[in-house]
Amino acid sequence: MASVGIVGAGTAGLHLGLQLVQAGIPVTIYTNRTADEVGSGRLTNSVAHHAVTIDHEDRLGVNHWPVAEFGYDSHHHYFGLPDPIVFRGDFARRSRAVDYRIYQPTLMADFEDRGGKIEIRDVDVPDLQGLSERHDLLTVASGKFTLGQFFGPAVGRTPLPGPLRRLQVGLWTGIAPNDPKGVSIAASPGNGDLLEIPIYSFQGHVTALLFENVPGGELEKLVDVKHDDDPKAFRDMVLEVLRTHYPLTYARVDEAAFGLTDPKDLLQGEFTPTLRNDYAQLDNGKYVLAVGDIHSTLDPIVGQGANSASASAQVVGDAVLEDPNFDLRFMQKVADRRRNRVEAAFDWSNLMAGPPPAHLFQLVGAMAGDQELLNEFTWNFNYPDRQWDILATPERTAAAIARSAASKGAPARA
Ligand SMILES: Cc1cc2nc3c(=O)[nH]c(=O)nc-3n(C[C@H](O)[C@H](O)[C@H](O)COP(=O)(O)OP(=O)(O)OC[C@H]3O[C@@H](n4cnc5c(N)ncnc54)[C@H](O)[C@@H]3O)c2cc1C
Repeated sequence: MASVGIVGAGTAGLHLGLQLVQAGIPVTIYTNRTADEVGSGRLTNSVAHHAVTIDHEDRLGVNHWPVAEFGYDSHHHYFGLPDPIVFRGDFARRSRAVDYRIYQPTLMADFEDRGGKIEIRDVDVPDLQGLSERHDLLTVASGKFTLGQFFGPAVGRTPLPGPLRRLQVGLWTGIAPNDPKGVSIAASPGNGDLLEIPIYSFQGHVTALLFENVPGGELEKLVDVKHDDDPKAFRDMVLEVLRTHYPLTYARVDEAAFGLTDPKDLLQGEFTPTLRNDYAQLDNGKYVLAVGDIHSTLDPIVGQGANSASASAQVVGDAVLEDPNFDLRFMQKVADRRRNRVEAAFDWSNLMAGPPPAHLFQLVGAMAGDQELLNEFTWNFNYPDRQWDILATPERTAAAIARSAASKGAPARA
C-alpha cells in the first residue's frame, strides 16, 4: 500500500492526511511545530470556512464546531461613499470561523488518534530528497513562508511585484454581533477594507477585525504602529479608525468593554500573493506535489486561502486513492483537476485587493437592487470558480447582471 509523506500540519496537510488515513493509507506528517506550540502561539490569521469546506470536514469526521452554534449566515456590506451603500447577502448554508490555534491542534490529535504519524522537524529543500525516499509520494504543504523556492513561480503567470494590501488582524471583545450573525465587509474607498468576523477563540465568541489597508494610504498606521509600545494608544487608534472609516462596526462597539483579547491575538504585516508550480522534480527523479498556500498564496480579502487549500487537498487525496502511480502523469492530472478552482480563487482575490475595476462597481450597483444576484455573489464564496465566471471580464459581469435581471422580467441595469 502506498505510503505518503506530507510536510506541514496546516489545513492543507491535515485535510489530506486525514483523508488518506481514513482510507487506511500510512501517512507521516513532518511539521516544525507541536500542537502545543501552535495552540499557545501568536494569532496567524482569522479563517472562515465556508459550507463546502465544512461538508468536507463532515466527511473527514472532524467537524467539532457545528454551524448551529458556531456558524454565521450573512455578509453585511458597507461602501463608505458620500452616499453610503449598505446591503446584505445571505448564504444558503452557514459559514464558520474557529481560531486556528484551536482548530489545528484538534485536527492534529484526530490525525494521530486515527493512526497517522507526526514527526516534529524543520524541513529544508535539501531534506526533500531523503524524505521522498521514505515514501511513495511526498507532498509539501508548508504554507506561504518556506520551501516555495523549490516549486518556483507558476509558469505562464507574471508574478505580482509586491503585496496588494498591508494587514492588521486582531481578536477583540466589546463588539456586538451583527443581526443576522455575519461577517461585515466594509470599504473605505482609497484607504482599505475591514472584515469583521465572528470567530470562536479561547475566550469564547469574539470578533476578529481584519484591516486590509491600501499601501500608501492613511490607514497604514494600523500596520506600522506597534501595540506593545503603548497598548492604550493602540486601542484608541483602532477605535478611532472604526469611528471615522467603518461606522457600522463602530455603532456596535461598547467602548467600556472594547479591547484586544490578548497581546498575542494580533498580527501585523504583509505578503505578496503568489502562484507557484504544482509540482517539481527531485534529482532522484521523483516528483513532489505542492498543496495549499505554498502552491497559491492569496490575500485574505475574500477569505479563500484555507478553503482553497482544503479543496486542493481533496483533489490530491482522491487522486491518490484512484491511481497510486506517482509519476508525471499523476502530477499533471492533479494539476488539471484543481487548476480552475485554485486559479479562480487567486484571480478573484487579486481583483478584490487591487485597484477596483469599473465592472466591480457595476456589479456592486446591480447587487444593491437585486437580492438574488447578491445572494448568488455571497454563496459563491463557496465556489470561487463560479465567482470568477462572473468577474473575469467586464462582458461576463454585464452578462451576469442582465441574466439575473431577465430572470425577474426587469430591465437590465448597468
Ligand atoms: C489575516 C488572515 C486571514 C485569513 N482569512 C482566511 C479566511 O477567512 N478564509 C480562508 O479560507 N483563508 C483565510 N486565510 C488564509 C489561510 O490562513 C491560509 O490559506 C491557510 O491557513 C493555508 O493553509 P496551509 O495548510 O497551506 O498552510 P499553513 O496553515 O501555513 O500550514 C503550514 C504548516 O507547515 C508547517 N511548516 C512550515 N514550514 C515548515 C518547514 N520548513 N518544515 C516543516 N514544517 C513547516 C507549519 O508549522 C504548519 O504546520 C487568511 C490568512 C490571513 C493571513
